[in-house]
Amino acid sequence: MANNPYLDIDRKMLGDIHTSREMMDNLEILCDDFGSRFGGTPGEKLAAQFFRDKFKAYGLSNVKMEPYKYASWTRGETTLEITHPVQHKISCIALPYCPSATIETELVSVGDGAPSDFKNPKRLKNKLVMATSKTPPDVGRFIHRSEKYGRSALAGAAGFIFMNHYEGLGPATGSIADNREAIIPGISISKEDGEYLQRLLRRKGTVRLKLKTRNKTRQRTSWNVVGELVGNTIPGEWVMVGCHYDGHDISQGAHDPISGLAAIMDAARVLSSYAKDHINCGIRFIAFGTEEIGLIGAKEYVNAHAKELDQIRLLLNMDAAGGGGRKGIVMHYWPQLDKFFANIKSQIHDDLPYGNKLSAFSDHFPFFEAGVPTAGMGDTEATFSGRGFGHTAFDTLDKLHLTNLRAAASCAARILLRIAAAKTWPAKRRPQKAVNAIITKEPNLDNLKVDAAVARLYKK
Ligand SMILES: [Zn+2]
Repeated sequence: MANNPYLDIDRKMLGDIHTSREMMDNLEILCDDFGSRFGGTPGEKLAAQFFRDKFKAYGLSNVKMEPYKYASWTRGETTLEITHPVQHKISCIALPYCPSATIETELVSVGDGAPSDFKNPKRLKNKLVMATSKTPPDVGRFIHRSEKYGRSALAGAAGFIFMNHYEGLGPATGSIADNREAIIPGISISKEDGEYLQRLLRRKGTVRLKLKTRNKTRQRTSWNVVGELVGNTIPGEWVMVGCHYDGHDISQGAHDPISGLAAIMDAARVLSSYAKDHINCGIRFIAFGTEEIGLIGAKEYVNAHAKELDQIRLLLNMDAAGGGGRKGIVMHYWPQLDKFFANIKSQIHDDLPYGNKLSAFSDHFPFFEAGVPTAGMGDTEATFSGRGFGHTAFDTLDKLHLTNLRAAASCAARILLRIAAAKTWPAKRRPQKAVNAIITKEPNLDNLKVDAAVARLYKK
């Protein structure tokens, strides 16, 4: 058993985290006062200013709100009516970047939306195509909403209907384009209404729907909020930790994302109080803007800081990390770091599950694409069956518990301390060829091919 050279600092940091209510106090302001913090809402700017002020209060240096322009989307009114074989209104919401449209056409169900369910594009052309939010069985990977939407658009569908597969949670939201108005409309309905439509299809053969949706996409400004603890001997090198702060406009975004950022802020607080003198490289803390509508803040950061990317030891993404489940490291294929983390695990006497798994659906991905070492906080041994209340109106503060938040903050603080205290670092930025090789091989990234095909539709 390795001894723990940081035992004294660990005791101070964890003792503070476990006897403080600071995270819950911050979350009450972020969720109850600022609301969803969705791009373009007043709460978004209030949240950015809140992180700026808190980072300063916690003793971080070089604290900045870094502005960027993006395409902001605001929902208007959306209605869905069955016009045949019965007359009935279905409650629904537009998905972010849904354009305004009026459509009357037949409904087609593609079940859970496995790639094979889209094999016959003629059946889908000019129809409203409905897929559930469930991961289809036997595909061997999670299939994201955007892939089901993309395959519908590629088949020439008139519009897309996303049906929640969880009961009692209403419709689930999620964007259907990245940083621009989508190519065909997309809306969302509850499981209960989706099953009603499926029953009608089965009994009556043909179901006609009328969809009317009014939304606005226009240019606005958002912000990444950055602060750091400057390294004592290698100040031009950083370990970075980040999480987005925008939730979806229909919810408080309590678990996804802000539980993760609350934990990061507490890690910043205790690292600043007890570990400042022991770090060699810097620790940079980032609250990313507008992730939910295309990882826009993270992409902007990578562009704006292109000259510094070689000096990043690791970006730890803590998107939604303050919920339940074990806190470990989800590594994005950096075997050079396996030994380093095995050593941490033996020092901290905690589970620290460790493994490799990669998706394109959070802020680490623009960094990964740029070759920067990245990881997430989570548990690769846990099975992912879906978002549950995530991305619904029920992602609210009552779902969060201090025990889980404390576990996330403690894990982050101990890992960041050890990475920043290391005199040398075994991982170097990957060349583009090596990045591309991983992307091609990784089945979880098959959605990128659909994204690329949809991007070509915009050019036609
Ligand atoms: Zn998130």
